Amino acid sequence: MDRRSFLKLAGLSFTGLAFQPLADLLPKTVFAKDGLPTETLALQKWAMAVDLNLCSKKDNCRDCIDACTRIHNIPDFGNPKDEIKWIWTAPYKDVFKDQAHAFTKEILLKAPVPVMCNHCEHPPCVKVCPTKATWKREDGIVMMDYHRCIGCRYCMAACPYGARSFNWRNPRPFIKSINEGFPTRTKGVVEKCNFCEERLAKGLMPACVEACSQKALTFGDIRAPRSKVKALLSRRYSIQRRAYLGTEPVVYYLL
Ligand code: SF4
Ligand code: SF4
Repeated sequence: MDRRSFLKLAGLSFTGLAFQPLADLLPKTVFAKDGLPTETLALQKWAMAVDLNLCSKKDNCRDCIDACTRIHNIPDFGNPKDEIKWIWTAPYKDVFKDQAHAFTKEILLKAPVPVMCNHCEHPPCVKVCPTKATWKREDGIVMMDYHRCIGCRYCMAACPYGARSFNWRNPRPFIKSINEGFPTRTKGVVEKCNFCEERLAKGLMPACVEACSQKALTFGDIRAPRSKVKALLSRRYSIQRRAYLGTEPVVYYLL
């Protein structure tokens, strides 16, 4: 039995507290192999601000989506049912159902809103994962370990934002051009936005932030005294997706 099959069997047999002893027996390096060592990130807390006024300035803009797709080997299966989404757009009145009203600015209603994993402060997806394939780092990034994922999709059911996608088929043949610097996934695995943790580890901005021709996305450490994202959030009015759920998204929308 290979490691993934073993994890699948174990994950389906033991959940919650019953599973804990098994997790403890697995090598600790598995839990911390991605990105920078957590000690160096302990003081940072990443956040993103999306300026919807700037987003609305370019019709049918796909700068962020195309950059993310290219860099993260996101497949295109050619049908919406199987779509793998890291960052995508949706109408304002769908994204902010609870906030749109008769006097919402026309410009906001017209422009598609970019949406992604919110890297929630209290992520329900993390709580339900039986194999710890998804976890929250000290710097706030909600991570995925594709090798530990058994494809039970509990996390997808728990995420109130539809931010996770499942590979129903082998994605490799559906990737336009493979970026050898980032892992491809396999059939039966869940994936989602990782705030470009692999780029942050090299001192680079997330791909979507860098690619945005309108400079609508601002990313940074909200704990840093001179952080641009912190300054923007202190100065401008911002909203979060479904804030009433208590998940505390760290993706903010500037109106
Ligand atoms: S948006 Fe969904 S997938 Fe992302 S951290 Fe929150 S609950 Fe988890
Ligand atoms: S599908 Fe989601 S909940 Fe299930 S093992 Fe994978 S990451 Fe964890």
